[in-house]
Amino acid sequence: MPLVIKERQQWKGRMEGCQACGRRRGVVRRYSLHLCRQCFRDNARTLGFKKYS
Ligand SMILES: [Zn+2]
Repeated sequence: MPLVIKERQQWKGRMEGCQACGRRRGVVRRYSLHLCRQCFRDNARTLGFKKYS
């Protein structure tokens, strides 16, 4: 049986990507959060942030 290796978990060193999905693109470092914009939007409601128009 073939072994399934998850290369995603081979990240070493600095992890400045999104803590939710690991994406480095558009990571929001505000509010001491390390989430990408998409995950930030998803968590914004949970964290109590309101959407600015
Ligand atoms: Zn994310």
